[in-house]
Amino acid sequence: MKIFCIGRNYVDHIKELKNEKPDEPVIFIKPDTAMLRRNRPFYIPSFSNNLHHEIELVLKIEKVGKNISPKFASRFYSSVGIGIDFTARDLQDKLKEKGLPWEKAKAFDYSAAFSDTFLPLDGFDKENIPFRLDINGETRQCGNSGQMIFPFDELIVHISKYFSLKNGDLIFTGTPSGVGPVKIGDRLQAYIGNQKLMDFMIK
Ligand code: ZN
Repeated sequence: MKIFCIGRNYVDHIKELKNEKPDEPVIFIKPDTAMLRRNRPFYIPSFSNNLHHEIELVLKIEKVGKNISPKFASRFYSSVGIGIDFTARDLQDKLKEKGLPWEKAKAFDYSAAFSDTFLPLDGFDKENIPFRLDINGETRQCGNSGQMIFPFDELIVHISKYFSLKNGDLIFTGTPSGVGPVKIGDRLQAYIGNQKLMDFMIK
């Protein structure tokens, strides 16, 4: 399986990192060794002094597909989870400056934490899914699927132009503003609506 991540999908987050608004989705991939599940702790890697959290809605792909057309895109997923795209921001800034790929800053081991539970999308208006990240009981990031520049179906269409989708692939759909560093001892709790789906520690 593979993990697709979308960069720059929320205007307020683009502004906080002083990036340009993209004409099409910014895509990068994390390998399966990036998965962090079951509320296991996240260990800050030794190569970063500025390890950021990015809370994101996550889609789980349920069908094999390639070159998917807009009218069929919604058939490829039926549930939404929550995840954290852990990012070594100091390393990413260096790589970006040199025009190099982001993998070392974004796709390292355990950099893709996500919930074990995925909620059926039947119960939601896909354009109004609120989510948030609390750290030590204080809300740090708050988002809503309605704020995405490229909504779920457009992401499926665009990704599948370049990559075959397979059952079990994940799509991290981008982070809203409020990204910032985590430190040892932090407790992270991630919610969709009022439902807590992740609760784990930084070590
Ligand atoms: Zn992200």
